[in-house]
Amino acid sequence: MKVELYEATDQNPNLKDYDEAVKHHDWSEVEKQFSWYETGKYNMAYECIDRHAENGKGDKIALHYKNGDQKSSYTFEELKKASNKAANVLKDEAGVVKGDRVFIFMARSPELYFSLLGALKIGAIVGPLFEAFMEKAVRDRLENSDAKVIITTPELLPRIPVDDLPSLEKVVVVGDGVEAEHIDFNKSYESASDEFEVEWLDKEDGLILHYTSGSTGQPKGVLHVQHAMVQHYISGKYVLDLKEDDVYWCTADPGWVTGTSYGIFAPWLNGATNVVVGGRFSPEAWYGAIQDLDVTIWYSAPTAFRMLMGAGDEIVNEFDLSSLRHVLSVGEPLNPEVVKWGMKVFNLRIHDTWWMTETGAHMIVNLPSMDIKGGSMGKPLPGVEAAIIDDEGNELPANRMGNLAMKSGWPSMMRKIWKNDAKYDSYFIGDWYVSGDSAYKDEEGYYWFQGRVDDVIMTAGERVGPFEIESKLVEHPAVQEAGVIGKPDPIRGEIVKAFISLREGNEATDELKEEIRKFVKEGLAAHAAPREIEFKEKLPKTRSGKIMRRVLKAWELDLPAGDLSSMDDD
Ligand code: ATP
Ligand code: MG
Repeated sequence: MKVELYEATDQNPNLKDYDEAVKHHDWSEVEKQFSWYETGKYNMAYECIDRHAENGKGDKIALHYKNGDQKSSYTFEELKKASNKAANVLKDEAGVVKGDRVFIFMARSPELYFSLLGALKIGAIVGPLFEAFMEKAVRDRLENSDAKVIITTPELLPRIPVDDLPSLEKVVVVGDGVEAEHIDFNKSYESASDEFEVEWLDKEDGLILHYTSGSTGQPKGVLHVQHAMVQHYISGKYVLDLKEDDVYWCTADPGWVTGTSYGIFAPWLNGATNVVVGGRFSPEAWYGAIQDLDVTIWYSAPTAFRMLMGAGDEIVNEFDLSSLRHVLSVGEPLNPEVVKWGMKVFNLRIHDTWWMTETGAHMIVNLPSMDIKGGSMGKPLPGVEAAIIDDEGNELPANRMGNLAMKSGWPSMMRKIWKNDAKYDSYFIGDWYVSGDSAYKDEEGYYWFQGRVDDVIMTAGERVGPFEIESKLVEHPAVQEAGVIGKPDPIRGEIVKAFISLREGNEATDELKEEIRKFVKEGLAAHAAPREIEFKEKLPKTRSGKIMRRVLKAWELDLPAGDLSSMDDD
């Protein structure tokens, strides 16, 4: 397939020379940025907020919150005090101590950020939950983690099986009409002191417990520690390219790792102004947020870009998006067609980044100073050693598809899978951390995602990654999204089957199927053209917006679909 090249044009990115940075990278040099380099005392919330408030940045806006017409802003000094108050509430009224699991289950609001930072100031391990979780998803996670305290809102409280969770001691409710058996956050917050002694921690002490998206099976409880901040900071500087005057918006919910590593930690460790937008997705709301808050750096996901693309290009022109200077994507493979669209409507490159809950921070990235090859995830973050290996741990040569793996030892790597050591151990072949994703590396060192290892299709002796076919499919003007699976076939081993949702205004006809099949056959390869196509109103997705191919497969084979607690069933 023809590769589109997008040259680097930024004259002054934070990281100017990738090759030099790789050669000279030294994690201990990065550590010098932190106050604990001298003191040995760690606390993520302190490094994110208090340190800036105490070093002349107190009056700088740390947080813009926007939800419809409602807008509020907080300086670093105000956020320091607000999180101190929240810490006092959690410590004094809910009895939170270092190491406790404190869960947060609420829609994005300023209080979510106050209480998350407050819990971190006490040294608690925070467990953020996405607001759309229903009872089973909430129960599974609280049970698995032995959560002691949960912070929620009156709307979401009914989904927490409060009396069924032996470890759960206190429920903190943010909102009106709080019953006497629970802690009334707003009331306690009002009278709480805005001073708090931060709990000093060790670099290996717990920070956050994130459950994975559940794309491939039951979500895993991934534990990250304080030391992860080294990589949050440097990837924020190099990859997000955060600078003094930037206004940065990450669209991910803090219930997913992107919403904390890059929605909280990376921007604030870099002292940037961070934007949080509440409410539901709509093209108007999103473009409106960029325009109204003068967002300069925007980090989102392929599913959102595809929806914006589907909404048409006219709507883009109704907004002034000229503040934008840097756009990034994560979560799913970024189709070349989407990068092309980004150039057309924003006149900016969309920089793909690859990483996982388990890796804690960016691993394979497109940097502002690098040329981008449309459809490639880019190259390893300086300090990360990546390779494509076979199942025995041998490195494969260029252009061979295999396991995407990294040498263990980067700072933000997970430290355990909660209560599942065997699962943790299963990630490793010797020194290699094996991602579970399939990819190849080209001669120039760019990595190309092919699919989840389990999703790679073996058809008539050929190994095909579903991503390439899906990317070709979304190039077709009628196709909004596509999920491709291998369907068992007695002759070919597997055949390629595509599930497709159509863009508005297209009719699901057999002629269209035939046209789409031909489009892939002529534009990609005959063996990659889906032998079967099924149109769907919408594709099954996780709540973090990823297409769930295992559900497509289960539908196809009439098998149980497994854990669906994180499926978006709106
Ligand atoms: P689970 O582990 O529960 O099945 P999940 O793997 O979707 O769910 P996450 O940790 O949220 O959970 O997602 C990481 C995965 O997302 C990666 O392993 C990869 O498959 C996919 N992914 C993330 N970013 C990219 C990207 N830039 N390109 C391709 N795939 C990506
Ligand atoms: Mg995973």
